[in-house]
Amino acid sequence: ADRIAKISSTIRIIPDFPKPGIMFHDITTLLLDHAAFKDTIDLFVERYKDMNISVVAGVEARGFIFGPPIALAIGAKFVPLRKPNRLPGEVISEEYSLEYGTDIMEMHLGAVQAGDQALVVDDLIATGGTLCAAMKLLERVGAHVVECACVVELVELKGRDRLGEKPLFVLVSST
Ligand code: IMP
Repeated sequence: ADRIAKISSTIRIIPDFPKPGIMFHDITTLLLDHAAFKDTIDLFVERYKDMNISVVAGVEARGFIFGPPIALAIGAKFVPLRKPNRLPGEVISEEYSLEYGTDIMEMHLGAVQAGDQALVVDDLIATGGTLCAAMKLLERVGAHVVECACVVELVELKGRDRLGEKPLFVLVSST
């Protein structure tokens, strides 16, 4: 509980970024605090080290900060889930809806196999649309998504409901 309070205190909230009305949770200030960053990774590793996770899938861009150290520590591979046209190999794509319009997430074919046990990592869940798209990509190639993990949950946006039955683990719940 001590560690969570410390982590929470290092996350900076910037009003009206990237547009008016948004309270942006900025995790770059967490990264500046070695103890808080280490505690963040340790808490995830403590949870996942004995859960037989074979792949950590990180969502671009901030899932690339938290995902790899978790993957290394628990002995899993790391797979980046990227914005469109960034991955050079053959990909599968999933379109998903944003507040305005749609976006596309891509994953390299062959990176994840049927039977892989997957953990999806991102910095923050808002409406849950991003994590849903990530889970669909993994499930389309036959992986089993064990859980989604985020540093921050914006509770009022009810993203957790959108994930349905799929477990979501977060360190900081923000209201
Ligand atoms: P969702 O799809 O609505 O759940 O939005 C989550 C995605 O948007 C994640 O990839 C986040 O990194 C990003 N995001 C939304 N709001 C914030 C914020 O306040 N801080 C950092 N990232 C955010």
